[in-house]
Amino acid sequence: MQDQTQPEKDALSAYFFQIADAAQKESQDSSPSLFPIIRQVMDAAAQVLASVALTCESPEPDCAGGCSFCCHSRIHVTPLEAVLISTYIQDCFSADDQYHLKTRIRDNLGHTRGQSLAQRVAIKDKTPCIFLDHHACMVYDQRPFICRTWNSLDRRACETAFVSGDHEAEIPCLSAPNYVYTLARDVVQDVCTRLHLETGRVELVSAMDQCLKLTDAADTFTKGVTIFDSGKLLLPPV
Ligand code: SF4
Repeated sequence: MQDQTQPEKDALSAYFFQIADAAQKESQDSSPSLFPIIRQVMDAAAQVLASVALTCESPEPDCAGGCSFCCHSRIHVTPLEAVLISTYIQDCFSADDQYHLKTRIRDNLGHTRGQSLAQRVAIKDKTPCIFLDHHACMVYDQRPFICRTWNSLDRRACETAFVSGDHEAEIPCLSAPNYVYTLARDVVQDVCTRLHLETGRVELVSAMDQCLKLTDAADTFTKGVTIFDSGKLLLPPV
């Protein structure tokens, strides 16, 4: 039996493809870049969610500035997201901030490389996301799709799960951000496949380590070179 949400899903995917195609055409007309594609699809997803919030009586997430429990998880991103973030770092971070970031990457990998999920969870208060600074995201406007899906209807549940180390705790949340941003990310991945660019999933810290060793990750990626050996940059299973 066909999933009842399939037509809605297909229409939303088609909309995101339309945005991506228009962004691609526009960027070819000016300076060729893949970044307008991902940025405009991210913006379109945010607008879809804003209109859903206006039309549905859904509760407000309990997320607020200064709360960063969810930013202590290790995450996977797509190669294009990793390249987008690393380009932002190289263009916008001061030399000092880049130095500190590289130190955080090295420390983080030193603590976590080869560790199981249980071992990583046990030290997660010592291994916040490399981009977390005073409970704020240093790459907020470029943050990956996965971070955009996160929301919580109960901040205390996040705190309890964080303090107890229960990584399977049920956090009440809105499902729409997960649905919409995951679909948007899949569309961007499909566009990359169509353009013969690297796709897949890579662990964020290892991906940043790899990208920041390159002089121009964006140029290398755009040429279709495989930057990440995706299979090797995934976190080990539990
Ligand atoms: S990239 Fe930003 S939003 Fe995502 S986990 Fe890291 S600090 Fe949090």
